[in-house]
Amino acid sequence: MRYQKPKGTMDILPGESQKWQYVESIAQDTFNKYRFSEIRTPIFESYEVFERSSGDTSDIVSKEMYDFKDKGDRRLALRPEGTAGVVRAYVENKLYGPEHIKPYKVWYKGPMFRYERPQSGRQRQFHQIGVEAFGSDSPELDAEIISVGLEFLNRLGIKNLKVAINTLGDPESRAAYHKALVDYFTPFKDQLSDDSKIRLEKNPLRILDSKDNNDKKIVANAPSILDYLNDASAQRFEYLKNLLDDLDINYEVDSTMVRGLDYYNHTIFEFMVTDPAFDNKEITVLAGGRYNGLVEELGGPETPGIGFGLGVERLMLLLKDEDLPSANNLDVYLVTIGEKAERASVKILSSLRRAGFCADKDYLQRKIKAQFKTANNLNAKYTVTIGDSELENDTASVKNMATGEQVSVSLENLAEELKKIEG
Ligand code: ATP
Ligand code: MG
Repeated sequence: MRYQKPKGTMDILPGESQKWQYVESIAQDTFNKYRFSEIRTPIFESYEVFERSSGDTSDIVSKEMYDFKDKGDRRLALRPEGTAGVVRAYVENKLYGPEHIKPYKVWYKGPMFRYERPQSGRQRQFHQIGVEAFGSDSPELDAEIISVGLEFLNRLGIKNLKVAINTLGDPESRAAYHKALVDYFTPFKDQLSDDSKIRLEKNPLRILDSKDNNDKKIVANAPSILDYLNDASAQRFEYLKNLLDDLDINYEVDSTMVRGLDYYNHTIFEFMVTDPAFDNKEITVLAGGRYNGLVEELGGPETPGIGFGLGVERLMLLLKDEDLPSANNLDVYLVTIGEKAERASVKILSSLRRAGFCADKDYLQRKIKAQFKTANNLNAKYTVTIGDSELENDTASVKNMATGEQVSVSLENLAEELKKIEG
């Protein structure tokens, strides 16, 4: 019997995992600079957490969720996205309390699960990195969230990013727009996809996000949210655009953009890339927005919030090898000749590692030539060779693998000597 991984999942093997670690380290470093701390929440939550936050007409809840009953008959779901769990944790741990400095800023990374048709950059288990900030409604924070996302991707060498922004306005503006959409779509009701017929009843805004080609044609002439903003919402959006100008961030206003969550309001944004890795089709790597009603929806006090999520697999497909640090970190490969050296090597390796070197040896009793070949293949910086005579004379032969230069040093003080050689 040979087992296969479930459809839509991937093994991240050594070689690839270094890239992931690199991306995660840049995430941590970038987000920490903006005072975001890491939060880790469960990979599964009560089903209702997602149902309430994404809304039951969202694709995520209506089609893509991995939900199940556990042995105690609890209805649970594997998280399809990061925000709902973070908001649940924010409320449950009373992070809104006065002892917590606001805005309360967190970032997360980890696997997400959606039952989707797998294709390039679309999986059933995929990974997101994201940030959330609670407790401030300031547009300046909106600008910060957009700029921290950009800085993260820029540091990874991602070029040709298109930043698309839009606003969904405040509840009053949204209500006016809601009415305008119903008025517009109702005459087309019979031509809309089945999904969009339901959306027209429950949540017409979502029709704008339909992936159905015929829906898209109808959507093309739909009214624009920008014509339905009240003064306060319009001014707020203008102010945000000014802030992005101040930051020299190039953006495009896409007035047809909406987002998956029901509770988005005011600022929403997506970062898009056109790249040969995706047949030069435009894809979204990062998406987010303001969700001022969500904390309340999940049982907390009225609290503004804003964040984004970024698809790590899509990011990985965009990363170019030259933007990645070299994976080589083996300092020493120990080459042994004979049984005595074999035994001594255990202690020598241990002392090298304690001194901070990355060190390894041959565990297969291979001949010297084969050991050197392995050292080469592993890109070892140095080989240290020991045999009977070296052990007797307390010497070790150190070879710089890049230059071929060879020196004999005291075996007793090998770690010290190597540090000297390193300079
Ligand atoms: P799409 O319209 O492509 O389905 P979405 O609106 O469902 O995207 P979000 O919920 O906004 O996506 O998730 C944020 C990011 O997570 C996306 O921009 C994408 O990079 C990534 N993402 C979403 N779903 C998947 C998936 N199934 N596989 C890999 N990455 C994904
Ligand atoms: Mg989707």
